[in-house]
Amino acid sequence: MSLEKVDIIGVKVNSLTMGEAVDRIGEFIKNGKSSLVATANAEMIMRATYDQELQDILNAADLVVPDGAGTVWAANYLGHPMPERVAGYDLAQELMKEAPAKGYRIYFFGSAPQVADMAKKKAEEWYPGIKIVGTRNGFFTAEDEPGIIADIKAAKPDILLVALGVPKQEKWLYAHLKDLAVPVSIGVGGSFDVMAGIVQRAPKWMQKAKLEWLFRGLKQPSRIGRLMALPKFVFKVMGSKK
Ligand code: UDP
Repeated sequence: MSLEKVDIIGVKVNSLTMGEAVDRIGEFIKNGKSSLVATANAEMIMRATYDQELQDILNAADLVVPDGAGTVWAANYLGHPMPERVAGYDLAQELMKEAPAKGYRIYFFGSAPQVADMAKKKAEEWYPGIKIVGTRNGFFTAEDEPGIIADIKAAKPDILLVALGVPKQEKWLYAHLKDLAVPVSIGVGGSFDVMAGIVQRAPKWMQKAKLEWLFRGLKQPSRIGRLMALPKFVFKVMGSKK
């Protein structure tokens, strides 16, 4: 399996297909050591240029998938074509699709109260036989953390999906990875909101036209400011080309 990594303005991203990402995660589950998976879109990579802690975490992660058209574009532009985009939401769904047959146990941590539970209900409807072994909303204080960690450990998941937003989810996971002792942990951003039907993903044609970022910006006006990361990312990638 290709393990090639492409350096995109300081973040090393794996060049692989969705199928390869799912297989690799299956291997992580088999070997049982705590693995961290990150889904790097342009906004995250851009943030890592001024958030050294995030950059270090991403570069220490066991797998960094190319989430988003911007990441795939950058790799191609830098002369390292990537086979396809591996969006975090889609990766989570692919793993859940495989979960009943493979017996994967999954824990949902993050999003507003009730949203993770709603996402669990959806997962049980979409993937019959799936074991969602626990949920916890993503709003907590430092005092709550030992209890959250104990609950996750007691549920013995194979896969921990964490939706606290970037970079909180990556930092939280990195800090607690050893303690959690879960084979695979993945930061999945707004995925539970999408599963619960609170946030919509762009229609397929927009995803294909590489316009999902625009759809998200228009649908959630609070994100408009975040769109500015995209042109900055493009300029930075262009400037980094040797
Ligand atoms: N969230 C959370 N705890 C927090 C802050 C955010 O659980 O302290 C959740 C929020 O409810 C949402 C997700 O984190 O479900 C972030 O979604 P977003 O689409 O902003 O993710 P990003 O684009 O940062 O990956």
